[in-house]
Amino acid sequence: MMRDGFGRTIDYLRLSVTDRCNLRCVYCLPEAAPRFVPGADLLGDDEVAALAGAFARLGVSKIRVTGGEPLVRPGLPALLRRLRALPGIEDLSLSTNGVLLAGLAGELKAAGLDRVNVSLDTLEPERFKRIARFGALGSVLAGVEAALEAGLAPVKLNVVAARGMNEDELSDFAALTQDRPLHVRFIELMPMGETGFFSPERRVPLAEMMAAAGPLEPLAREGSPLGHGPARYYRRPGAAGTVGFISALSCGFCGACNRVRLSSTGTLIPCLDGEDGADLRTPLRAGAGPAELEDLIRGAVRGKPESHGMGARAASSGANPRLMCQIGG
Ligand code: SAM
Repeated sequence: MMRDGFGRTIDYLRLSVTDRCNLRCVYCLPEAAPRFVPGADLLGDDEVAALAGAFARLGVSKIRVTGGEPLVRPGLPALLRRLRALPGIEDLSLSTNGVLLAGLAGELKAAGLDRVNVSLDTLEPERFKRIARFGALGSVLAGVEAALEAGLAPVKLNVVAARGMNEDELSDFAALTQDRPLHVRFIELMPMGETGFFSPERRVPLAEMMAAAGPLEPLAREGSPLGHGPARYYRRPGAAGTVGFISALSCGFCGACNRVRLSSTGTLIPCLDGEDGADLRTPLRAGAGPAELEDLIRGAVRGKPESHGMGARAASSGANPRLMCQIGG
């Protein structure tokens, strides 16, 4: 078991397999020429498997594959198969924008993927084009259907709520949970990356999100859909699915944080909002063996900060210099 310097158990790795994305969501990526890293700097499959294996030996049992958009990485199903086969990995999940999911869901399931989160911020086709700038709503909805059919359950929909973007649609999203086993989570906008989108006025306070999504009955943790994160779950009366809220700014959840992140270039990022990180790629490429990698990981995890500093950034309309696509969310 691996613990950080504040005694928190770290058993969850968010693993970014690319910084590239086929969308340019207004709050996540600048529209013009994102600075994607050169291909040679991205970890190859053997390198991802070697580092993930080191995390697993140290007690990580849950891996979420993310990006960028993980489905644009060539050969992803084969990589997932290797991750699922690592001793100790009990839960393998994926975050995707869903654009390519319809054609891949069955193959991903067969490769050992347990479940999927699809990010979707609007149910209106024209608005989708304004928010995501590329892609089409229809392909994402087809991806959600394919995920349900393939049994990538529980299927969660992640909705970033922002004023002037989609705050009038929260009720429609919550209604999706009524008849289908869909789990909608509303995510508070975070000050990440120089996108020019974040401002304190854009934030939709938790109480407002909950009022819009209601009526809601609180769910005990045991009744919540499988997850290991900071979401608080509710259910509309009689609904098949659930409604959750992830409010990094409104609710301090750092005390229960169980996760670290590995970027697509092999940097271990101890905190979503941290600006530092431990480079694991250089030692790996220089021939570091399993024990040395484990020591490096343990050391970086010990240095995980007690809490993020997003509140202060938000108050000053500042943002973390890293883009979310470089971290993986
Ligand atoms: N492409 C995948 C996807 O769409 O889920 C994985 C990467 S994406 C960066 C992960 C999540 O971060 C998405 O749900 C996205 O909406 C969320 N995200 C990106 N920028 C954000 C921001 N500034 N505030 C809150 N969530 C953000």
